[in-house]
Amino acid sequence: MYHFLRRRKAYNLDTTSQDLYERFHPALGFSKEEDLSASIIFIVEEDRVLLRNENGAADFPRFSDCFVQNPERYDLGYLGTLDGAHCFYMSYDETFIIPNGLEFESLRTVYSKVDEVIGLVASRAVHLAGWSQRTKYCGVCGSPTRKDPAELAKRCTSCKNIIYPRISPAIIIAVVKEDKLLLAHNKNFKQRWYSTLAGFIEPGETVEICAQREVLEEVGVTIKNIRYFGSQPWPFPDSLMIGLIADYESGEVTPDGVEIDDAAFFGADELPEVPGTYSVAGKLINWFVQTRNQG
Ligand SMILES: [Zn+2]
Repeated sequence: MYHFLRRRKAYNLDTTSQDLYERFHPALGFSKEEDLSASIIFIVEEDRVLLRNENGAADFPRFSDCFVQNPERYDLGYLGTLDGAHCFYMSYDETFIIPNGLEFESLRTVYSKVDEVIGLVASRAVHLAGWSQRTKYCGVCGSPTRKDPAELAKRCTSCKNIIYPRISPAIIIAVVKEDKLLLAHNKNFKQRWYSTLAGFIEPGETVEICAQREVLEEVGVTIKNIRYFGSQPWPFPDSLMIGLIADYESGEVTPDGVEIDDAAFFGADELPEVPGTYSVAGKLINWFVQTRNQG
């Protein structure tokens, strides 16, 4: 499947997707004869990865940093090649001795320290490491599972169950009313910041219906003219954020009091504290500010 994709030119991709397409080549395996000492290894513990911070620059460790001997004793997963280097992931376990100079950092922090393509490969590593940990046993019969050599999946060793990585799509939406953007504070935010509304797509819903339902449920407003903005994998633990833009249609902004405790329309020059542009929310807000400034 991957080879089929590689033969085609990537048309109509945003810059980040185009860079990802050119620099990262996903694969299930590699030639056993290759020298792996320069391979990149993402060592994952929940939503954190081991990172080296040196002279202000962040980098992921290489095989030669981590495995003085026998990498075979660890359960490594293969990701593909990034800028020509093989990439692997593994879940941290206590038998692994963390080399000097490496520290665990939350993936959200990593996003602000590395370029977007490396951040996306790290997302893939965190997502797959978490999935692999949660699917050691079959959910149907309880037997151990094993990796499928032919596709990105696991198979039960006794029944026919196939387990694919779960991806949970969610919408995130910038609702615009004249020169103002709808932002809300979610009760679960650790920070004081305001962000665009978001919610998981339910079974049977289209992206557009989900967007209408979420905005109506959370702040009591109806929307129209929904259009696509961009997307981002968000492996906390397994979301895919689908960024949208819509126009306000009707209703008074009324926070639901359950998820949202405050919401309002803000002008570009009166924004509250908002998320950084490493997230789709931050990119949507940045898009709003840029387009207002262009008049
Ligand atoms: Zn089974």
